[in-house]
Amino acid sequence: MIDAQSALAAPLVTRREDYQPPDWLVPDIALDFDLDPSSTRVTAILDVTRSSAHERPLRLDGDGQVPRKVLVDGVPHNDWRMDGDTLEIDLPGSAHRIETEVVIHPDRNTQLMGLYASGGNLCTQCEAEGFRRITFFPDRPDVLARYVVKMTADRKRFPVLLANGDPIASGDLDDGRHWAEWRDPFPKPSYLFALVAGDLSANRATFTTMSGREVQLGIWVRESDLPKTEHALSALRIAMAWDERVYGREYDLDVFNIVAVDDFNFGAMENKGLNIFNSRYILADPDTATDLDYDAIAAVVAHEYFHNWSGNRVTCRDWFQLSLKEGFTVFRDQGFSADQGSAAVKRIEDVRTLRAAQFPEDAGPLAHPIRPDSYMEISNFYTATIYNKGAEVIRMIATILGPDGFRAGTDLYFDRYDGTAATCDDFVRCMEFGGGVDLSQFRRWYSQAGTPRVSAVLDHDAGSGRATLRLAQRTPPTPGQPDKEPFVLPLKLKLFGTAGTALGAEQLYMLDRPTAEIVFDGVTDRPVLSINRGFSAPVIIESDRSSDDLKFLSAHDDDPFARYEAMQQLMLDTLVAAVTLGRADHQPVIEAVRRTLEDAALDRAFVAEAVLLPSDAFVGDQLETVDPEAVFRAREALRRDLGKTLADLWRSAYADASRAGAFVYSPPAKAARRMRSVALGYIAASGAEDAADVAFAQFEAADNMTDRQGALTTLVNGKSDKRIAALDIFYNRYSGDALVLDKWFQTQALSSRDDTPAVVAELARHPDFSLANPNRARSLVGAFGVNQRAFHLGDGAGYRFLADHLIALDKLNPQTAAKLLPPLGRWRRFDEKRAASMKVELERILATPGLSKDLFEQASRSLNG
Ligand SMILES: [Zn+2]
Repeated sequence: MIDAQSALAAPLVTRREDYQPPDWLVPDIALDFDLDPSSTRVTAILDVTRSSAHERPLRLDGDGQVPRKVLVDGVPHNDWRMDGDTLEIDLPGSAHRIETEVVIHPDRNTQLMGLYASGGNLCTQCEAEGFRRITFFPDRPDVLARYVVKMTADRKRFPVLLANGDPIASGDLDDGRHWAEWRDPFPKPSYLFALVAGDLSANRATFTTMSGREVQLGIWVRESDLPKTEHALSALRIAMAWDERVYGREYDLDVFNIVAVDDFNFGAMENKGLNIFNSRYILADPDTATDLDYDAIAAVVAHEYFHNWSGNRVTCRDWFQLSLKEGFTVFRDQGFSADQGSAAVKRIEDVRTLRAAQFPEDAGPLAHPIRPDSYMEISNFYTATIYNKGAEVIRMIATILGPDGFRAGTDLYFDRYDGTAATCDDFVRCMEFGGGVDLSQFRRWYSQAGTPRVSAVLDHDAGSGRATLRLAQRTPPTPGQPDKEPFVLPLKLKLFGTAGTALGAEQLYMLDRPTAEIVFDGVTDRPVLSINRGFSAPVIIESDRSSDDLKFLSAHDDDPFARYEAMQQLMLDTLVAAVTLGRADHQPVIEAVRRTLEDAALDRAFVAEAVLLPSDAFVGDQLETVDPEAVFRAREALRRDLGKTLADLWRSAYADASRAGAFVYSPPAKAARRMRSVALGYIAASGAEDAADVAFAQFEAADNMTDRQGALTTLVNGKSDKRIAALDIFYNRYSGDALVLDKWFQTQALSSRDDTPAVVAELARHPDFSLANPNRARSLVGAFGVNQRAFHLGDGAGYRFLADHLIALDKLNPQTAAKLLPPLGRWRRFDEKRAASMKVELERILATPGLSKDLFEQASRSLNG
């Protein structure tokens, strides 16, 4: 329920169809910052030009400020007015110079949007609409300006002054202050503006581009963190070379700087020439970062760097086109990571992320197409749909076009739209031209939400040697879209004979109608279907393959992803049967896992992923109504059986993986550590008496965070009191390291133990817990919300806990609060009692006075959508 008053106060909705080109352009802007944490004076000089024959006033976006002064063509001007937060000035003629002055307060900026203070330094975050919190400007991505930025600040406190582009001048003042001026020659939208002032040190290197230009690279951190920047710096140089080789993209400025900050709403931000990063995606050494952290750092460094072309040189016309830069750039960073190690394991990880974060979004009240039609608050649309499903859509285009066609398409896109603000349609047109294909129907991926379901039934007539594959697609309704048109689904297929040999080559079948039949002749052996190989389309396959067929594919399929997928399906079928029928035959899973473990020809990195059971949440997603306890019990029972029956194999896998010497970060060493953690998990699941001792020994002897956290996780999920000792040791060892303390909170919030809700409530009162730091808020409140068992345990205490913290967090940082709401929005998936308790909390959030539009939009859509 929403009462009439708050319904009236509901924020305005922005619609894609209402797009109008800007009335005024700003080819040039000069900014002058007199920096101070408590009070910063910002003077902005905008050269504005009327974009066409209209008489509308100049409108400049602000957020809460009133200008101290306004000058037009150098003369003080009084004929201006505020329309809400917007500064409106009537102007004759078509070109003017507008000067405004505002004063802002970085140290009071808890939203972390605009200019704010973090760890004693000053930094900015402007995407999507933070620039208006700094100065008055047409804060929309299709207004591109050349920026000159002057910063003046106390020399001792802020010895380093950075902004976009290249440094052009600097100097000292008599009063202990100094200044620096930067110029960015490339026109850019305001969301890519950045500055940093602070006491920072740089790890420097150079990179020579493909045309022989030398670029100065710098990664800026606290001096004590310098040793932790080597991995990020090396990843940056590899990424720069990769983008030249794979996409022909060369860097364009003389300097490229990255700054790490501790308080950050996102992972990182691609501001032109001055990327600003959440420190968790920069800082790494073996003692504090896991292999997953190392991988994520390389991926995020590459992602933000790749934006220099896909996002910065070619930007988005409006925020509805967000996937134009994000889906494409995620696809690019996935390709980069796949090239650095095992491509098969990377694909498995990416699909796992999609299923964990995006499939539930597509199936719930917040479902939206990768190019949404409307929003209240754009920051709510930085979603797994825009990013991860967006990347899958680009991947399908690349599959349809083939490597040469896709490269021709991207070359054309970068060429044609360089220096402009483009749309998703512009991109697709370039792909059609480059690949010589018609993507008219394919465009439905941009407009329709929901995950398509494809049923695949294979009939075989041994007498005639004919196999017939019957395919049918349907996409369930999503909010505002009751009926769906058929998608274009590129499905990679292959048939295998029961002897394990392929019956013909893999084929790419384009399913573009509701149903289709594919006939295979000359099939005398009984065929087994391998479908959606490599996860060629982001769909859910419903096939009638038996557990024998799946077990067979898990041992014989020659596509590693399909092999993994067969194993996952076998595990899912088993767990769903256990939950819905109350019993399940574990034997096929056990046999499939045994064969995988025993197959010495397989990459250990692949084996470690293949033998893992699907998560509680993914099993829950398969059920009509989620019963978190039944899912948990079924999964634990299968884990115990696997652990016990294959005890010798887990012990020998553990011993093999433990033989590595001192820490190195390399694909085989990573694979060994991963296998070690997975095997330890199964040893513990078996109920072995010595499991806690083995885990504790690993915890104490570890020379790296992967082994240490792997052991800690096993202990924290178990019953032994050793977990308390381990948690204390871990806490004391890392109490000064915020990023590692996040792991301490998160590991406990993700625990499957009965007492997790109580432990989490206790941790929320811990002196090291704070909602003001987004990483810390996510590590406890966010992690708890996705812990399916713990969140839903008991009488709704978990729901109350989440709602209480979202309401409190909303007052500080609405963006981060809104992002943590979705677990409550899943109420329709649970039984009536749980659903009712979850709705009560959503209603309570909506009834909170002064709610942000970020949280209002998420909660109201979750309740009513
Ligand atoms: Zn991005």
